[in-house]
Amino acid sequence: MFEVFGEKYFSLSKFFESMIENENITVPNSIILHGPDIIAQYYFALELARGANCLENKKHSCECQNCRWIKANEHPEIVTVSKINSKPDGDDSKSVISVKQIEAIKDKLVASSDYHRFFIFCDAENRDFSESEKEQLMPFENFGLKFPESAKGWVPLGLTKKCFTEVVANALLKSVEEPPAGVTFIFLTENLENIISTIVSRSQAFYVAGNSKQSVDFSYLKEQFANYPNIESNKALLISEYLIKTAKAKDLSLSSVLVAVQAYLTDLLRNNPQNILLKKKVFDDIDKLQKMVDMLNSGVKEQNIADESGYILTKQS
Ligand SMILES: [Zn+2]
Repeated sequence: MFEVFGEKYFSLSKFFESMIENENITVPNSIILHGPDIIAQYYFALELARGANCLENKKHSCECQNCRWIKANEHPEIVTVSKINSKPDGDDSKSVISVKQIEAIKDKLVASSDYHRFFIFCDAENRDFSESEKEQLMPFENFGLKFPESAKGWVPLGLTKKCFTEVVANALLKSVEEPPAGVTFIFLTENLENIISTIVSRSQAFYVAGNSKQSVDFSYLKEQFANYPNIESNKALLISEYLIKTAKAKDLSLSSVLVAVQAYLTDLLRNNPQNILLKKKVFDDIDKLQKMVDMLNSGVKEQNIADESGYILTKQS
């Protein structure tokens, strides 16, 4: 189903695909997509909603009613929430997502639904695309998905604490934590630090790489991981030390370094697409490292995460 995302978002696409197609894995209640390319994140969010609601084969060409509605961005239960989208009557706030919007969502959730409902939270502006945004749009030109209000010119932007304030986020917190079955909140942002930690700790976060100019720098990892996927298990503690030291030396959070490792592994796979063993280990490891990032965000000690990550990256894991 994520076939149109092509090689660029290879590992994330495969991961989402397995999430939708494997009946034992449920789509999380709350997802944060983060990274420099908000347009790609928006498309990912819609595709995830489409995969969860498709009545037929989930392929991009599917013409079932849900797929048609979602591609046209007209599905009543797939809702974009921003400072300019989904404003209830009488809400004249223009620069923020308001408490009134959150109350309207909560009211909506009281009734049950036959659909898997999605609320896609982002910032947005009505204007033309900038040159760099046009570049971000390019991979999706033939994608067929529509933005809301595409006639007026609608640009999705990443959430910040300015447009999605602490008060408003807290009003939503309980719904994020214990939503009714079949409800998923997706938050789009450039950086996890732009969303209050109480939401982050209740969400599964996924890094979405940007185009080459903006993508995460992983070049510094190449030497350390040159032997991957055949790193001996007795090197696990050395890797742990390396991760902690590198974060300090580069003034990055350990999460950022783990995100860079994921980007490095994705790149490795892209350059060796025929290597089946590598493919399996990269998918497993990206998944495991993502759990490490989630655990860091929910307050687990850095040393423990670095040790576990070191072990994951050896050939024994
Ligand atoms: Zn369908």
